[in-house]
Amino acid sequence: MLPLRLSLDAGALVANWRTLARMSGRAPCGAAVKADGYGLGAVEVVRRLAAAGCADFFVATWAEAAKLVPLGVSLSVLHGVRAEDMAEALASPARPVLSTAAQVARWREAGGGVCDVMVDTGMNRLGVAVEEVATGLLDGLAIDTLMSHLACADDDAAMNKRQRASFAALAGRTAALRLSLANSAGIALGADYAFDLTRPGLALYGGVPRAEFAGVVRQVATPEAQILQRRRVAAGETVGYNATWLAAADTEVAILNIGYADGYCRGFSSHGRGYAGDVALPVIGRVSMDLLALDVGAAPGLAEGDWVRLDYDLLAASLVMGMSQYELLTGLGSRFERHWTP
Ligand SMILES: *Cc1c(COP(=O)(O)O)cnc(C)c1O
Repeated sequence: MLPLRLSLDAGALVANWRTLARMSGRAPCGAAVKADGYGLGAVEVVRRLAAAGCADFFVATWAEAAKLVPLGVSLSVLHGVRAEDMAEALASPARPVLSTAAQVARWREAGGGVCDVMVDTGMNRLGVAVEEVATGLLDGLAIDTLMSHLACADDDAAMNKRQRASFAALAGRTAALRLSLANSAGIALGADYAFDLTRPGLALYGGVPRAEFAGVVRQVATPEAQILQRRRVAAGETVGYNATWLAAADTEVAILNIGYADGYCRGFSSHGRGYAGDVALPVIGRVSMDLLALDVGAAPGLAEGDWVRLDYDLLAASLVMGMSQYELLTGLGSRFERHWTP
């Protein structure tokens, strides 16, 4: 029993997927579960989403795919196949998402079978060029899903329309069974962006990449830490590193087993909040590597050994700290015990 847990709301995860599936219209809705399900635990995320009807899952690497293969779901490996991945890729039921001409050649020569392909439509990250597709790079290749990725879906940028048009022009140019473009934010851009399959990640896990998701997507992950010590700090004394917090009056303080090594960022110093039931407990002083101090004057019954929930509203925290919601989620460390509630 670890003194730190990540409380995970399975009902919210599934509800978020259903919301995104509804917003995807006729296109089935898949799930990006790379980076261990954005830090929540990919195996448990996939089990729950697959039970709800999600059929297509996206990971970054073959190591990530290997952990999910036993679940028997459709897996796409977004980083494609390097030479050193080939043996594993050929033996795996997961499909590589080929993204360079060299990968396409490697896969063809090995007789690799059905694959996916990423086309770059302007982000200049991974993907073969639209021109390469036009000149026949993919001809004869057995492609399940031809995909591209939007650079600015969380903004109302003109680039979204340009990328969509350039991707739509590839319809029928390859043997691909399906086209897929939209991530979470892309789903909110409208039916034109859904094509045959959507690939949300962030919004499944409670992130709000666009205003359309505010109040619609539910929070999934909440850190909870145990109190290691409760103490009274006398007026005039300070708390924590660099003595940044000075007690104006005698103050009741709880020290929690969580810190920036757990992904509870130092930026929450003086900004974060814990909760005991509905009672808000402000963070005081600096967040340490493994410890955190809260003013618990409002919760007289709270004692050593009790658990405190930490406010982890991704949108609000990202605005306060100037961090991305993706970092806030995936930064949560490995010292948590994951605790799924139905
Ligand atoms: C991570 C990723 C997604 C999911 O993106 P979100 O913004 O988290 O919804 C979809 N497609 C690709 C290619 C990705 O790398």
